[in-house]
Amino acid sequence: MTRKKILILGGGLSGLTAGLELLEDGGKERYDVSLLCRDSELGGKAASWRTPDGRTMEIGFHAVFGYYTAIRSLLARVGRSTTDPRYFTSNRGEHLMYEPSARAVNRLLVPRGPFDLQALLANLRTPYKGHSKREQLAALTFAARLGAYLATTRAEDIDPALDELSFTEFCMSHGLSLSLTQKSWFKYVLDLAFNYPGAGSAYVGLYGFRKLMGFDAAEVLYLNGGLSEVIVDPIAKRYLDLGGRIETNCSAHAYHLDPTTRSIEAVDVAPTKDAQSQRRLQKGRDFDTVISALPLDATRTVLRASPHFDSAVSKIPFFSNMWHLRSVTSISLRLWSPYKLMPTDYSTVVMGTPQPTATIIDYANRVDELRDGEWPSVIEFEGQEGLHGELTDSEMIRSILEQFCDLPFSRMRKSWVDDAMEQKGKWRIEFRRNNSQTTRYLLMEPGHWKFRPDIAECPYDNLVLAGDWLKGTQPTASMEAAVRSGQAAAKRVELS
Ligand SMILES: Cc1cc2nc3c(=O)[nH]c(=O)nc-3n(C[C@H](O)[C@H](O)[C@H](O)COP(=O)(O)OP(=O)(O)OC[C@H]3O[C@@H](n4cnc5c(N)ncnc54)[C@H](O)[C@@H]3O)c2cc1C
Repeated sequence: MTRKKILILGGGLSGLTAGLELLEDGGKERYDVSLLCRDSELGGKAASWRTPDGRTMEIGFHAVFGYYTAIRSLLARVGRSTTDPRYFTSNRGEHLMYEPSARAVNRLLVPRGPFDLQALLANLRTPYKGHSKREQLAALTFAARLGAYLATTRAEDIDPALDELSFTEFCMSHGLSLSLTQKSWFKYVLDLAFNYPGAGSAYVGLYGFRKLMGFDAAEVLYLNGGLSEVIVDPIAKRYLDLGGRIETNCSAHAYHLDPTTRSIEAVDVAPTKDAQSQRRLQKGRDFDTVISALPLDATRTVLRASPHFDSAVSKIPFFSNMWHLRSVTSISLRLWSPYKLMPTDYSTVVMGTPQPTATIIDYANRVDELRDGEWPSVIEFEGQEGLHGELTDSEMIRSILEQFCDLPFSRMRKSWVDDAMEQKGKWRIEFRRNNSQTTRYLLMEPGHWKFRPDIAECPYDNLVLAGDWLKGTQPTASMEAAVRSGQAAAKRVELS
């Protein structure tokens, strides 16, 4: 039997999952799968790497939520069970939320299912610092109303039309007072972490909250090591073991789409570092079907370079809609410190810290390799450029570190900031602006949902799109969405 040739473009979680799904259960008999990836390392936004002296760095802090069922079962299949403490540890539903008005960190226990009375009582016993008695009551009333709404609505039944509203609008129309929308817990949710300073979509927010209501769904699983080692490499290894092929450092440049045959006829590719040395991969000879698992901005660039752009791409709503989607630059500052800078019992992320980095974690409190290691603290500051995009890198780093000194739980001193920035002695710093078209993050703003492509509607029969920015069963742009989208792409190939 001749095998169907599948060409996968993109080596992130969506591309790798698509390849693995096709090859599992004897798929090698039916499919000849090869994957091309622009970068030297696989994993895309979920990749990690080591600095020359062995420190782990990645695009930014990543966690797996309890309700991420697709990636959790995929990880179990490749030998990385999320219940194995060698690879993951749970926050047991505990979240740390900084409230600037009280200069205090609140310890919130998100119930592990609707009958977790212990968590509910614990939250009631310890009033939220930064709320007056009246605000406390207003927040509880609102939480009960929102909880009742979510408990009576399945995640799948949350209406995508809600995307036209911001999360703030939705909450205010359901009884939340304006003053509570100013609290950091609300802003953190409203901004959906990366949407700052814009509002997050009510649809995406509510979908996520509904999912968090299942048993153990609200727990956050923290990686006990680098992203590549814990998540990406075992998936890639399984794909290779099943007979898949991978070529790294190879970029797609243009798709040749023919609206009359309704097919992708060719793909121009070239070594990433030598764009002039292009070669053309042809339908029939090199592939039968293409799975395009590139990020949003890279997909637009490749489509833009396609011959007959007007007739083959821009006049077709499936493609032209994606030009309305926007992406943002996330930032990540990692600081290796010769002093312990955060309390050891802050073993989960502190949320709601000052912008542009609304999330801070001390990896030395969590990752086995770093515990009792060379650096007493390894702090990750993560966020999104937002209103701070004009700052130079060193201005941005300085402002993040100085803000950190002012936080009540931080032991960072102003007099250490210069040393840290100059990496004197044992201080080390790595700073990233994820602003390239391959690393930008999808902005999940109100009104965006209708512009996300639905893979079932692709007008080219042998082209399948995948990625965390497509319409799928998981609207947050996440590792879960990427895995689900890869699975959906494989299913589409199998059905065609
Ligand atoms: C800072 C940050 C923090 C995050 N935190 C979390 C988190 O806590 N939990 C969570 O679930 N998710 C998180 N995410 C989201 C998660 O990382 C992504 O949703 C997911 O990894 C996307 O996978 P993907 O395969 O869709 O795309 P990508 O990971 O972007 O992969 C795309 C692939 O395409 C390749 N490529 C690009 N252009 C070309 C080209 N022209 N030719 C060939 N190949 C190309 C890239 O090299 C890459 O391999 C975070 C993202 C960021 C940026």
